[in-house]
Amino acid sequence: MLLGALEAGGTKMVCALGNEKGEVFERESFPTREPEPTVSDIISYFAGRGIEALGVSSFGPLDLNEDSSTYGSITTTPKPGWQNVPLRTRLMDALGVPVGIDTDVNGAALGEALLGAGKGLKSLVYYTIGTGVGGGAYDHGRLLHGLVHPEMGHMLLRPHADDPAPHGFCPYHDGCLEGMACGKAIEQRWGVPARELPPEHIAWQIEAEYLAQMCVNTIVMLSPQRIVLGGGVMHQEHLFPMVRKRTLELLGGYVAHPAILEHIDSYIVPPALGNNSGAVGSLLLAVRALG
Ligand code: ZN
Repeated sequence: MLLGALEAGGTKMVCALGNEKGEVFERESFPTREPEPTVSDIISYFAGRGIEALGVSSFGPLDLNEDSSTYGSITTTPKPGWQNVPLRTRLMDALGVPVGIDTDVNGAALGEALLGAGKGLKSLVYYTIGTGVGGGAYDHGRLLHGLVHPEMGHMLLRPHADDPAPHGFCPYHDGCLEGMACGKAIEQRWGVPARELPPEHIAWQIEAEYLAQMCVNTIVMLSPQRIVLGGGVMHQEHLFPMVRKRTLELLGGYVAHPAILEHIDSYIVPPALGNNSGAVGSLLLAVRALG
């Protein structure tokens, strides 16, 4: 079955063709510009290719209420020109195939849950720690939406005692996860890109503290069977042991399950699909759109 996958990001649109097994055959990306030319690029890529459905993992916020007249639209994004763009409807009308849509992080969570690090499990939370921070939750076949959809990147954290920028850099919140721990926040705090900071730099202890608080909050709120940490910042592999150790310390033995207490190395893990979580998840959203 030939399916389309779109990872709609704030800086680029990644279009791919693949199948229901999550195999990606080809992909192409375009810069995200004004909505009209950008959506036209996407339509030109998929038109006439014979796809049976399209899955979209998109930046947001999105309207994911299936009963809403604006279902599948981008809503209040600060990205200029993209407010209230009916992304799903535009693509469905132009391509004439079912279109499934979810947040970028829910898409990646679905990919990892079914075909990646969560294979065989019933629940998983996926975070991307990159330019921004976002999280998606999968539980017993469903992606968590709730009232709107979760905005895990904006959970509030306690500042590290040695953080020179203890309020973080989110324009909306004092001390939220994204404002404290995304790649841009690391760069703003230390004045150099994160990848240029050596592993022994205190920046990483502070980063590990925030990501451990995020994991603890996730464990006590959602109790997933696994937490997957992806995104550019997590390419710093030395972060994983630091985050795991600090998560155990902060939990204080309170959630006494062997998956955490004895097997933390396989509880907080990198994405098994590498950088493909979003593309694979989008293909699975296409499968779901077919019913
Ligand atoms: Zn925030």
